[in-house]
Order: sequence, then C-alpha cells, then structure tokens
Amino acid sequence: MSRKYIDCREMPSENNCDLAMAGSEQHVLEAAVTHAVTVHGHENTPELREQIRQTLKDEVPGALA
Ligand SMILES: [Zn+2]
Repeated sequence: MSRKYIDCREMPSENNCDLAMAGSEQHVLEAAVTHAVTVHGHENTPELREQIRQTLKDEVPGALA
C-alpha cells in the first residue's frame, strides 16, 4: 500500500512552517488537519480537509529530497 506525503512548505502559511508528514491517506490527512488547526489556526471544515487532500502526493520510496 502506497503512502502519501504532505509538505507544509507547499501550503500557504504565515510562519514558514516546514513540517512534512507521510503515511496512508487516511492517517496523513487526519494528522495534517490536526496540524493545520492547532498550529496554523485553521478551522476544521470539510473545505479545509478537501484542500489538504488535494495537496497530498504519492510518496516516492527512497527519494525524500
Ligand atoms: Zn505547518
């Protein structure tokens, strides 16, 4: 099962956050939503979840640049 990753540097942010997370889509999405809410002050809305889901990328094994 492939993992997804998300890089906070690719999200609009006000504090130059450089967190990156990887995991199955379900888990990385949950973690990213929690992160967006707690760290970036976003509201946990379906729109936020959809926006984050669209930024998920397939993880390339062994190529974490
Ligand atoms: Zn962040």
